[in-house]
Parts: sequence; C-alpha cells; structure tokens
Amino acid sequence: MKFDPASSIQDLMQFGEFGDVNPSVTDSATYTFMKADTMTGTFKGETEGCFLYSRHWNPSNKYLADALAAMEGTEAAWVTASGMAAITCAILQICSSGDHIISSVTTYGGTYAFMKNYLTKFNIDVTFLNITDLEAVKAAVRPNTKMIYTETMTNPLLQISDLPELSKISKANGLKLVVDNTFTPMIVSPAILGADIVVYSMTKFINGKNDTVGGAICASLDFVNSLADVNDGTAMLLGPVLDPFRSSSILKNLHTLHIRMKQHSYNAMYLANKFKETGLKFNYPGLPEHKGYDLLTSMMNKEYGYGGMISIDMETAEKANELMERMQEAGIGYLAVSLGYFKTLFSNSGKSTSSEVPEDVQREMGMSEGLVRFSVGLDNDIERTFEKIKACLKDMNIL
Ligand code: PLP
Repeated sequence: MKFDPASSIQDLMQFGEFGDVNPSVTDSATYTFMKADTMTGTFKGETEGCFLYSRHWNPSNKYLADALAAMEGTEAAWVTASGMAAITCAILQICSSGDHIISSVTTYGGTYAFMKNYLTKFNIDVTFLNITDLEAVKAAVRPNTKMIYTETMTNPLLQISDLPELSKISKANGLKLVVDNTFTPMIVSPAILGADIVVYSMTKFINGKNDTVGGAICASLDFVNSLADVNDGTAMLLGPVLDPFRSSSILKNLHTLHIRMKQHSYNAMYLANKFKETGLKFNYPGLPEHKGYDLLTSMMNKEYGYGGMISIDMETAEKANELMERMQEAGIGYLAVSLGYFKTLFSNSGKSTSSEVPEDVQREMGMSEGLVRFSVGLDNDIERTFEKIKACLKDMNIL
C-alpha cells in the first residue's frame, strides 16, 4: 500500500488523561516514582514507559514525536526547541573530532554557518559541494567521512536533492544520510526514500502559525535513544528541550498540515504559471523548466503538490528591496524571514537568511543578489494576490 503521511497521522489515537480528544499537556519538570528501584532502572534506560525528568522525555513531547515518526515512517522521533537544535544535535551525535561531512553548499544559512565556522572548533571538516552533482559527492568521500547532509529542496535555490541516489552512495560507504525536509513536509518522505535521519525546523510549515520555534529529528529508535542517553546523548546533555505547551499546540497544527500544504502548493503553482506568462525570471520546482522537476516528481507524494516556495530574480538588491516594500504596502504579505506561514512572507535571501554565506560563494552557487524568496501563504483568492504583485511590478516599470 502507498505510504501516505497524512493518513499515518490520522490513524494515531492519542487520548488525554480523562479521555480528552487532545492529549493532556504535561505541566511538570519532574515525575514521582512509587518505587525507588524503578527510578534507578529508568536512569539506566532499563525501565520503559516511565518519565524521569522533562529534559529527557516528557509525555507531551512524546505525543508530538510519535505523530512526527508516523508522518515520516520512521521508528521514532525527538522534538527540540528549534530547528537549529535538531540539526546541531543530529550532527554532533554522529560526528566526533577528526570526522568529515559532505554537505550541500546551498543549505539554510545557519546550517552553513554551523558547519563552516562552528564545527572547526571540534576539528570536524566539511566539504561543501553542489549536491546535485552525484559524481562530486562520490569523489568527496574520505575514509573519515561520517555523513552526507542535504535539504530535500534547498534553501534558497530550490534545488532538488536526489535522495535515493544519495542514499545509495551513503550506504555503499557506511555513511549516514541526514536530510532537512523543512521546505517539503508530506510532499517528500525522505526516510521512505532512504534517508537515515530527517530533520525539521517545525517553526515553518509543520507548525504554520509563526508563534513559536521548534525542531524535530525523525530516525531509528536506536538513534533517538542515543540522543537521549543520560551519559552521552547530545540532546540530553545540551538540553534544547521543547516546552510541552508549545509541543501540544504544534501537535494540533500538525493535524491540518496536509490541507495547508495542498493550498500552499496550489497558490505557488498559480503564481509560477502567471510569472511564466509575464516573462519574469523566477524559480519554482513545480514547472517542467526547473532542473529538478522530473526528480521531484519521481520522489513526491503527489497529492501535496510542489510546495509553497518560489523565488523571483530582481537582479539587483535595490530592485528586490523596492519590490518587497511595495508588496508589503499593498498588503500582499510581510517583508519577513521564515516560511510556511498562513500569510505570504518574502525576503531577499542573500541579505537575510543566507547572509552567513559569503557573497562570492553566493554568486558561485548561482544566488543572485536580487533573489526575492516567497513563502506563498494560504490566500483564498490567489488571482487577486497576483494582480497586486503585477501592479507593484508595473509601478516599477518592470512589466
Ligand atoms: N532548516 C531550514 C531549511 C530553515 O529554513 C531554517 C530556518 O530558520 C532552519 C533549518 C532553522 O530552524 P529554526 O529557525 O527553527 O532554528
């Protein structure tokens, strides 16, 4: 039977303490034990089903983690206080001093900065490359390589990673394939396609409300248990725990994710087709002109569409800024970083979420200084939105 992330979540029955239809929220940092021996066993990881202390596991986070594992088709999941916490914990759990990582050069700027500037403190070396060049990936493998890191749809260039092929390369060399699926939840199921670990910024589409940051790591039970190990688990020891009140609200939002993704995708596809008609320079992986279109089509769970991320190239930062200011004034959305929100958000990637990437590297990877990245919202009347965008471009003498 075909794997469907939304049906997997729907099939979960998570009752609250008094038969509540929403799981109860845990308002406790610590938990009692009726027998002292049970506490000892829980510390040693020998007793299952008991909660010890909320930085380790707490019931609210477990409910959300179980729902995320169901969505990804992984044995288990772990939730964190931010996407960066998920990414850094996953990397530090796998890599030690002297190890090597192969990473896509186009990733979220914070991920790039962590790998480029922070991992050097731990003597962990990173080769950044064009992740769509599979021969380059193969050639970059060294005896000390531990991981291939990529984003399914890369931020902000919207390149598509060939997850089945990257998985083959990583399996052939005993590596872990770690995939950030923040841009494409439900659209692509990386673990089903061979990823070992799937990370998320839940701040984005998964929560969809821009009221909190949060992150997740979906993986095997062994890996999740290793993160929580009281002796050497990165998540347990660095402690980026998600607040249970937040995890409870994210869980409720997760149950509408499939509907939201379809609408984000529908709206972005509408804009892409209109941008095409008007002759604008734009980038959307849902049109056959995009280099990754066939690949994404072959990997995706089709009913969710090609996603809500689209970019247009205004060529200069000045023009990009002018367009964004005009669009905000016209009520199209907000000039703000982040994505996956019910309102449209736009930002100039090179000057914001990718500003950690030096400008020469930005140009080398093909990122224009005038790139305006849109996270298309859930607008009910996207034609009306397009007319407003068109009016802004006309006022700038671009159309
Ligand atoms: N991964 C991607 C693709 C992102 O766009 C972001 C954005 O911030 C992150 C990870 C980091 O997540 P967070 O801001 O929740 O720490």
